[in-house]
Amino acid sequence: MSGRPYVLEETTWKTVKAIDYEVAVLPWGATEAHNYHLPYGTDNYESSYVAIEAARKAWEREARVVVLPTVPFGVNTGQLDIRLTINMNPSTQAMVLGDIVESLDAQDVPKLVIVNSHGGNDFRQMIRELQSSSGVFIAAINWWNCIDVKLFYDEAGDHAGELETSVMMEIAPELLLPISEAGDGAARKFKIAGLKSGLAWAPRTWTRVTEDTGSGNPARATREKGARHLEAVTSSIAEFLVDLAKSDAPDSYE
Ligand SMILES: [Zn+2]
Repeated sequence: MSGRPYVLEETTWKTVKAIDYEVAVLPWGATEAHNYHLPYGTDNYESSYVAIEAARKAWEREARVVVLPTVPFGVNTGQLDIRLTINMNPSTQAMVLGDIVESLDAQDVPKLVIVNSHGGNDFRQMIRELQSSSGVFIAAINWWNCIDVKLFYDEAGDHAGELETSVMMEIAPELLLPISEAGDGAARKFKIAGLKSGLAWAPRTWTRVTEDTGSGNPARATREKGARHLEAVTSSIAEFLVDLAKSDAPDSYE
């Protein structure tokens, strides 16, 4: 029995040699504490699941897509005082991404989509830099907010809250502690008005913001909410992958 041809880690050269892959998909996560109840690999499980499920749906519609192994480290410069949270600096990520893109470019895989799970990761500037030197068309998706989350959650939260807890109940329920073990995910706001309102942005020092490492209350999380959200997210990403795979000139305009 051979593996799924749209999951590179499961696939052999025999399969790869015979398929003209049009789009590579790169899940990118982080390794960090997620309140008391979710695993450190939460962002990696999420981006892998979303990428593979979207690729499966796209493959069934004849799109030749392949999901690369997940990059497990994110930008966590504000959490270095939380044990075993592992930071990968943006400049290191840019080098990792550059090497992956160079490989794809040399092998005539013409398009790459990053499926990002972690709020501290931002690939846009890296993609802009690669645009001038690479023949690969690169796009990025933050899967958690690519569809309006208010359709699915009472209060989504931004780290280990209702959204992330709900999707992890669907993706890897065996790895979660009961919600009764979780903190309330209360997160303090900046004192300065302009930072609090979002007029100005600055990164937060996480252990001064939250006691339990969470930001967002997981109390109302359910597996059903997570399943509905994931279904909608993976269907809309699959739609995009199908369109992108069949486009001969993705860098073209109406
Ligand atoms: Zn997360």
